[in-house]
Amino acid sequence: MDSGLDFLNKIHDRIPVSLEILPPNRGLGLDAIHSFFEGLKPWKPAFVSVTYHQAFKVEENESRIWNRKKPGTIGVCAMLKFQYGLKVIPHVICGGFSSFESEDFLVDLDYLGLDTILALRGDPKKGDAEFKHHRDGHRYASELVDQVMRLNMGEYMEDVKEAKSTSFVVGVAAYPEKHREAVSLDVDIQNLRNKVNAGASFIITQMFFDNQVYFDFVERARNAGITIPIIPGLKIITSKRQVEILPEIFHTKMPADLCSIIQRCENDFEATEIGIKHAISQFKGLEEYGVPCIHLFSMNNLTPITSLLKGVQRI
Ligand code: FAD
Repeated sequence: MDSGLDFLNKIHDRIPVSLEILPPNRGLGLDAIHSFFEGLKPWKPAFVSVTYHQAFKVEENESRIWNRKKPGTIGVCAMLKFQYGLKVIPHVICGGFSSFESEDFLVDLDYLGLDTILALRGDPKKGDAEFKHHRDGHRYASELVDQVMRLNMGEYMEDVKEAKSTSFVVGVAAYPEKHREAVSLDVDIQNLRNKVNAGASFIITQMFFDNQVYFDFVERARNAGITIPIIPGLKIITSKRQVEILPEIFHTKMPADLCSIIQRCENDFEATEIGIKHAISQFKGLEEYGVPCIHLFSMNNLTPITSLLKGVQRI
């Protein structure tokens, strides 16, 4: 039976490599994204996932207005699919969406033939300490996965005669070092299992800087009965400051020796060189372990991605 996971097939017997990109900031247009993908040619990623950014409220002239820094997720996805012929995976979040609005979003994706998604809860809105769900929306990603699976069975929010079933393949996120809100890694893995039971077919992990963390996590997930592919997420360090901010934002530890080498760098250029070397070593270790795919958090930054791909003989 077709699992919908063909994009994880090996290419020339080599482990596939995928990319995460961000839509441009409001008003900047697509030039930088075109340059990024033109710069990678003729190499093609196994898939490109495109982030989604929730709107947040800002105070301006004593009134509160909504702002979304990076609109355009669906547009970027459609452009990459039709103009570059890429397999594209939009991120779909719960935050800010009622279930009806989630359904409308999914209908648009279905009409565009974007049949694989990454279902996420979303982070707390900028300025909020905790995640607040839409009062008519989902609290957890598992509920969104469940909604997508119901659409796959032709069950819409309203009764529809002769409804057309969608055929979404759904990925979800996981955190090898535990999601920051989870009381323990075991509880987090149980919650991950709920997402798999709801219908997820693949997992993409948060970044980590020590492969052993991922290997241990995969073992624990397998012991908990999770059998679907667990794709490691890999981030290249590109500045001295990231040694402090990445662990803070993404709740990941950085190996002490890596931290001290980067802290001793004169500037960000040197830090990036170290970051690329470290990412190449992580990449090779993950390849050797036999991961299903390696997902690069590109931050739309062509130069380090190209250096990494050269370093692992992909381009
Ligand atoms: P969930 O799986 O819902 O889990 C959230 C927390 O709730 C966890 O602590 C979990 O253990 C707990 N939990 C789950 N179910 C239950 C339950 N039934 N009862 C009690 N507790 C429960 N954010 C964005 O806003 N946009 C993006 O594009 C984006 N892309 C991402 C891509 C990747 C690869 C990753 C790893 C993260 C991404 N994020 C993105 C961040 C993500 O939205 C946040 O980490 C968010 O805080 C959690 O999302 P989740 O889907 O893992 O949530």
